[in-house]
Amino acid sequence: MTPSAGSVTVIGLGPMGQAMVRSLRASGTKVTVWNRSPEKADAVWEFGAVRAGTVAQALDAGEVIVLSLTDYRAMYDVLEPVVEHLPGKTIVNLSSDSPESTRTAGAWIRAHGGRFLAGGVMADSNGVGDSAAYIFYSGPRDVFAACAEVLRPLGRQEYLGEDVGIAQLYYQAVLAMFLPGLLAFEQALAMIDRSGESIEQFLPYAQRSMGGMADVYAAVTAMSSSGGWRDIAHLRMMAAGAQHVVQTTTAAGVDTTLAYAVRTYWQQALTETERTGLPVSTFQLLRGDVKPAT
Ligand code: NDP
Repeated sequence: MTPSAGSVTVIGLGPMGQAMVRSLRASGTKVTVWNRSPEKADAVWEFGAVRAGTVAQALDAGEVIVLSLTDYRAMYDVLEPVVEHLPGKTIVNLSSDSPESTRTAGAWIRAHGGRFLAGGVMADSNGVGDSAAYIFYSGPRDVFAACAEVLRPLGRQEYLGEDVGIAQLYYQAVLAMFLPGLLAFEQALAMIDRSGESIEQFLPYAQRSMGGMADVYAAVTAMSSSGGWRDIAHLRMMAAGAQHVVQTTTAAGVDTTLAYAVRTYWQQALTETERTGLPVSTFQLLRGDVKPAT
């Protein structure tokens, strides 16, 4: 298996696909593109990408085909009508979806004679190709090894293993931290703003509060491997703290949905610990090991 060095087809030219084309072209890679809405291909002409007239032509143009689509459903919409062009191709799907969708897609591509790799891009479109950008990959090791060089301009590579679903598992796990974290920050901004304070003045304190998170993650990971953080004094303090956040958001007139959801976990861990006489952590609740009494 020898994908032609320095030649890639990119299908899907949203902000992410366009950024990938830019980065590949900057490294001298020959790039062929196709997008459902043809006008988006105009945006990457300036980078020197070749525009394919049809999906079939885009597949025929090279051996490594990068997909950057909204989700995996879009992959079937694009490839199903042209499956006879898949044999010998390596489909590298860098779209977001669930691990299970990824595994099903891998089997589907292989059943049509193609090879398959999945990836999760850990950068926003502006950061593609930067030193901080990286991509989780998973799938057959030989397929990854054959494509690694030509995909390198897209970002640092974190190959996670043969199970094609793992890249999306890690990607979605990071997103599971990022999405509530972003909402939590906006909740804090709303509390400050609603209270007549300056959110700009608050910003450096918010940033400072992130400084110690790497150590907190390490400590929580160590505790989670033996059931989680569950000493009663800790649970009492956290449940009380979460209650104070509910009171403060309520008083400020800020939406309290998030604050109540957070409080629920700490309060349930404390209640279950007191009810059963056995320590129960929020990690056990989230993992589904302990179902709180209703
Ligand atoms: P967009 O939703 O902007 O673009 C998606 C692309 O998918 C477009 O080219 C669109 O075509 C195409 N598409 C969607 N549905 C279909 C369909 N049914 N048939 C054919 N083509 C379809 O997404 P982004 O470019 O922002 O992101 C692409 C992927 O990368 C997503 O999975 C996203 O989660 C992931 N990602 C994005 C990041 C970002 O910063 N943007 C960061 C990290 C990951 P058309 O132009 O015709 O609508």
